[in-house]
Amino acid sequence: MSFRRRLLLVMLSVVMLAQLVTAGATLNTLQRDVQEKASHDLSVGLDVMQQLLIERGARLRHNVSILANDFGFKSAVATEDTPTLQSVLANHGDRAGADLVFLAAPSGELLASSHHSPGIPLPYPELWEYARDTGESVQVVIEAGRPYQVVLLPVRAPGLIGWVGMGFLLDDALAREIGDLTGLEASVLALGDASTTLFIASPLPPAQQARLGTLESALLEGRYLDHSAYDDQGDYLTRASLLHEGEGGRVYAIAQQSRAALMAVYGELRWQLLAIFAFALALTALVAALSARRMARPLTTLADAARRIGRGERLTTRPVTESGEVGLLADTLMLMQQDIDRREHTLLFQSRHDQLTGLGNRHSAQQDIDDLIASPQPFTLLRLSVNGFRAINDTFGYDIGDQALRTLAERLEAVPPPRMGSYRLSGDEFLLIIDTPAADAGMIENLHQRLDAPMDMQGSPIRLTLAIGEVRHPQHGDSAALLLRRGEIALDMARHARQPHQCYVEGFDELHLRQLTLVRDLQGAARNGELTLVYQPQLETLSGQLVSVEALMRWRHPELGFVPPDEFIVLAERSGLIHGMTAWMLETVCAQLAAWEAEGMALAVAVNLSAQDINDPGLPVRIADCLALHELAPSRLRLEITESAIMQDPEHAREQLNRLRETGLRIAVDDFGTGYSSLAQLKRLPVQELKIDKSFILRLDESPDDEIIVRSTIELAHNLGLEVVAEGVETSASRALLEALSCDLLQGYLFSRPLPPNDLLSWARAHRLDHTGVAL
Ligand code: C2E
Ligand code: CA
Ligand code: CA
Repeated sequence: MSFRRRLLLVMLSVVMLAQLVTAGATLNTLQRDVQEKASHDLSVGLDVMQQLLIERGARLRHNVSILANDFGFKSAVATEDTPTLQSVLANHGDRAGADLVFLAAPSGELLASSHHSPGIPLPYPELWEYARDTGESVQVVIEAGRPYQVVLLPVRAPGLIGWVGMGFLLDDALAREIGDLTGLEASVLALGDASTTLFIASPLPPAQQARLGTLESALLEGRYLDHSAYDDQGDYLTRASLLHEGEGGRVYAIAQQSRAALMAVYGELRWQLLAIFAFALALTALVAALSARRMARPLTTLADAARRIGRGERLTTRPVTESGEVGLLADTLMLMQQDIDRREHTLLFQSRHDQLTGLGNRHSAQQDIDDLIASPQPFTLLRLSVNGFRAINDTFGYDIGDQALRTLAERLEAVPPPRMGSYRLSGDEFLLIIDTPAADAGMIENLHQRLDAPMDMQGSPIRLTLAIGEVRHPQHGDSAALLLRRGEIALDMARHARQPHQCYVEGFDELHLRQLTLVRDLQGAARNGELTLVYQPQLETLSGQLVSVEALMRWRHPELGFVPPDEFIVLAERSGLIHGMTAWMLETVCAQLAAWEAEGMALAVAVNLSAQDINDPGLPVRIADCLALHELAPSRLRLEITESAIMQDPEHAREQLNRLRETGLRIAVDDFGTGYSSLAQLKRLPVQELKIDKSFILRLDESPDDEIIVRSTIELAHNLGLEVVAEGVETSASRALLEALSCDLLQGYLFSRPLPPNDLLSWARAHRLDHTGVAL
């Protein structure tokens, strides 16, 4: 139920209740009033009746006194001449209009009477007694069942010679006269000693007179006397007064008023009152409705305003002017709107920004790129990623990692125009939008200098190196999604080529697709027998003896054919597949060693391990198990680990290498000279061998620079007690030089390409047979 309706209901209920109580009380009072007034009227009516009787009595007395003083009458009484008396009485009675006349002797003996024979005592004892005591008497008596008002006076001449009396019947006429005077229904009722109705004087028609008879017993009990009450039927308010009680019965004066008549007055009043109340109620309802509406209106307005806010509209002004609670509500609503605004703003910001760095996120990058595409201006995207960022998290913890990313973000933001925007796309990937058609070499160089500068992370300097993939609009694509994807491809290329920067080149897409296919198919390559191992001989420089071979992996893809290891090894490392492949390789190598041994050839095999293999804590145990399984001595296996793999995390590498070394394995640093390690660092590592990278050997016979490098490397390595291997020996001149420089082992196409196991066996046999020939 609405607030307004409830308010209205409450107001109306209160008013209605108040009015009902008032109406009830008023009507009750009214009813009582009507009854009291009626009762009073009855009382007055009876008084009037009494008064009338007194007046009639006085008139009667006057008439009787004229008779009592009449000389002729006195003489007749004195003579006691009965017939004369009789006629004189009758005469006077007629003249006075009396209904009853009589004359009695001073003793009370009846001398003459209109109703009795003479000679008996006066038949009205109360009348007689009172007259004898006081000298005269006016009373109501019952004579032959009828009530009379009788006056009894003495006749004196001058002594008392008799008593003369006259009476009037209390008849219908009297009743009517009283009724007319008082407006009541007046009656006279005479009841006999057995309380039977003797006589009724009433102006009412006979049928209605009968109901007066029903009052008999109640009157006898004293009801209606001196107070008003309804008759047994409840139709008439009745009041009575006793006119006579004694000889012959009782006579009552009765006043009545019909309930119907009373109620007619009351009823009319009641209807008036109810009409007034109804009107007041209607008026109240109207006023209540109006004021409820007025009170509810601001609330309705506020509710409407709240709905509008919910729909996303913005209120500029307070929707209502009221103060108080409504005002408070309005203020709260406005505050709520502000809160919603702020939250929306925050949400919008969060939806477009990266939490950690505060840079725009991928979503906002996409939008901004789409906006730029809509304008005719060409622009360039640089996609950046941190090289080996996972290692930073692993080594220094996520706090430092996050801090590094934040610092990097600050640096990106500080890059001056033509930079237009910087974004964080994911973990360690960022994006710069540059307002030029292409990024020139100077710009890339400058960027690297800014971004790769060492960071001070809680006292220890960290140096991040970045790879950058570049993509240009409109040259490389016309949608944000395409540009971002090609930027990622360019970045991937840069990362895998370990280059600081790579611009997208047509065809990279296909290359990328090929890489996806390779990674997908590499998973089952070992299982499907697509992987094989080839072995390249390593010869002792001085003796030309075959002492060891390097195991190199080969993959023949069912559709793509031969895939170079430089291509798939990187993919395997990146996709985490390298672990399984290394396990397969170690297993195969050990089996092969055992097989060769059975053929009478005891060689050592050098195997290549990736950075991830060294980080695998289970590796030493697995290698030991593998050797034990084929009953091979640890000296039969040599581990080649590239300089760059060691340098990714030298401390950790040192621990791992120590553990490997403890199992008796020989360890070589592969591709030496391509990384940034110093010999001083090498000294602290448990390595026995150094493999000079083939880039220094391939043109050794032509390049004096290479010769200097190789010479000093060999010397220093020997000083550190390390054996030196040269790989990529392709010419006899190079071989001669290496021999002169005292390089320990040689490996290269000059001796042999990597060979399948059986071919190697043949090669070894031929080599041994033709030892001098091959050794030249
Ligand atoms: P790497 O460890 O430096 O292996 C030596 C590479 O030099 C081999 O290339 C070999 O064929 C080549 N080579 C040897 N002598 C000469 C020469 O006189 N002239 C020239 N031009 N090249 C020579 P390959 O077999 O293509 O292997 C490439 C790389 O793939 C390896 O470089 C190694 O890093 C990786 N690799 C190969 N097999 C494995 C493996 O089983 N495990 C791991 N982790 N890496 C492997
Ligand atoms: Ca190697
Ligand atoms: Ca190498």
